[in-house]
Amino acid sequence: IWSTKLLSLLFAAQQWGPVCEGNPTNEIRGCDKYGCGNFGAPRHVGVDVKCHDGATVFAPFSGQLSGPIRPFHNGNAIDDGIKIEGGGFCVKLLCIKPDTYRGYVRKGQRIGKMLPMQQVFPGIISHIHVENCDRSDPTFHLTNGQQDQQDQQGQGT
Ligand SMILES: [Zn+2]
Repeated sequence: IWSTKLLSLLFAAQQWGPVCEGNPTNEIRGCDKYGCGNFGAPRHVGVDVKCHDGATVFAPFSGQLSGPIRPFHNGNAIDDGIKIEGGGFCVKLLCIKPDTYRGYVRKGQRIGKMLPMQQVFPGIISHIHVENCDRSDPTFHLTNGQQDQQDQQGQGT
């Protein structure tokens, strides 16, 4: 009984929470006219979690914030983001407006808002770009193993 309990606790610690209001399972963007949201899509080293413009953004795990992280370096309406590091994880959450760029946040705590992606890419499936700092695939932790590379392939909307 103890070991089962310990294992489930360990497993729970590995699971990332939802990053966007309205998307409790961290559902990943399929394909649209701008490209696809899965890890390994052309020129894509992260995973795109569906998120409506203006939605509240949450910390996927507890950790230390740093930033800003600017994905486009051109000051457009979605050129902002943050890094979170803690518990052996390190991710960048991009195209969001962080409430603050410094300090410690707990898993599930509000960290900011989704930026107006439709202004820059009209018709795109708005999303938070989630990228591991070491550029590895974050899909498993993000979706708690419920989605993997295979499931993603050919998934279009
Ligand atoms: Zn992306």
